Amino acid sequence: MQSQPLSRLNKPAAAPGAPANISTPAPKVGFVSLGCPKALVDSEQILTQLRAEGYETAKSYEGADLVIVNTCGFIDAAVQESLDAIGEALAENGKVIVTGCLGAKKDADGSDLIQKVHPKVLAVTGPHAVAEVMASVHTHLPKPHEPFIDLLPPQGVKLTPKHYAYLKISEGCNHRCSFCIIPSMRGDLVSRPIGELMIEAENLFKAGVKELLVISQDTSAYGIDVKFRSGFWNGRPVKTHMTQLTEALGQLAAQYGAWVRLHYVYPYPHVDEIIPMMSGGHVLPYLDIPMQHAHPEVLKRMKRPASGEKNLERILKWRQMNPDLTIRSTFIAGFPGETEAEFEYLLDFLKEAQIDRLGCFAYSPVEGATANDIANPVPEELREERRGRVMLLQEEISKKRLQAKVGKTVKVLIDELTPSGAIGRSAADAPEIDGVVYVKKPFEPHKKLAVGQFYDVEITRADAHDLWGAA
Ligand code: SF4
Repeated sequence: MQSQPLSRLNKPAAAPGAPANISTPAPKVGFVSLGCPKALVDSEQILTQLRAEGYETAKSYEGADLVIVNTCGFIDAAVQESLDAIGEALAENGKVIVTGCLGAKKDADGSDLIQKVHPKVLAVTGPHAVAEVMASVHTHLPKPHEPFIDLLPPQGVKLTPKHYAYLKISEGCNHRCSFCIIPSMRGDLVSRPIGELMIEAENLFKAGVKELLVISQDTSAYGIDVKFRSGFWNGRPVKTHMTQLTEALGQLAAQYGAWVRLHYVYPYPHVDEIIPMMSGGHVLPYLDIPMQHAHPEVLKRMKRPASGEKNLERILKWRQMNPDLTIRSTFIAGFPGETEAEFEYLLDFLKEAQIDRLGCFAYSPVEGATANDIANPVPEELREERRGRVMLLQEEISKKRLQAKVGKTVKVLIDELTPSGAIGRSAADAPEIDGVVYVKKPFEPHKKLAVGQFYDVEITRADAHDLWGAA
């Protein structure tokens, strides 16, 4: 292996108090660091993270289980030196991850330069990509879990029951809805690297998760901040994009016999590409779309990303594409300036859209929200009255839609056992926010209901919120 920085970086001091007797040898990573001081800092950060996670550094190609090459792409000579270093690492070791400036460079025809010259590299990232590099390392050289040393299980600490978990795909939001102060607290959208998400999802499925709930402030916007750049999962490039993420999660869920449920989906046009993925039984035919209102003027005052008519158009189209689709949404009644006509427009929208699961809140001013300055605030009593009217209408809609399920057989994931049987949820029910399915104890003694297992349940009864049936 080469270059002066390499030998320096490859010999970190032994951690004080490190356990002397580790039952499984830690995986070893070789590191070639080229380029300027900025690249050197990137190398240090990657090495620090490797060390923090329990990887060791190797001093030679033969001693390494995998090699990372941090490249430079500044001048032609540096490009050549980087390409040569990658070639050498491939020849000497074979398992190579490339990062750094050259990783971001395209060839004249727009293709990735490194992958064109060295198609055998496992993954390529640009500079300042510690998380992505680590995600690739996790994919190609997973660290064996050491229960006596690692304080955390691979899936991390979870507050949810063992059979379902949330996957947070991004933080922050690029919208500026006038009633919301989240962007001022959490900043603009920052998408998590797709490779890292896929590894987290796989660890969760391996740990027994049967339902993965995708969450964020705006799931449809996933990847916008990084211009939908490609990450890596299982040695192949995957775009940081909601469609590719859903597809990859669906494939993983199919492998583990699990469900994926999408929350906080804004009705951007690419959601149309997600609906066909919902027929396979793993990406659930369920969309949680926070619409908040239907009247175009109210939506404008709310500074919402989508208009009411388009929402209705899309819902009708999606239902044509998949008649099993469940739509959940939240609405605000009595938003500042809402007239009786605007409110009635919302009621008409709800009658047409036939939202399956709906939450409605009376507008409540949040300190710091610009909506507080909008003229003609609706008096509190009227806000509550309008909320009541929405919920009354929804009760009728929900009752009718759930009644249509009586006599059908639905797949149910059991959450809890009860003296009379169990409580579970179907594809139409997200935990905590939607209804449940009460499953009767089976007569046959060999048929036992168990938490975290799926059962086909024949629906015998429904009310406005829940279903009852027998497995
Ligand atoms: S309501 Fe949602 S979409 Fe709007 S600013 Fe807040 S987090 Fe973003």
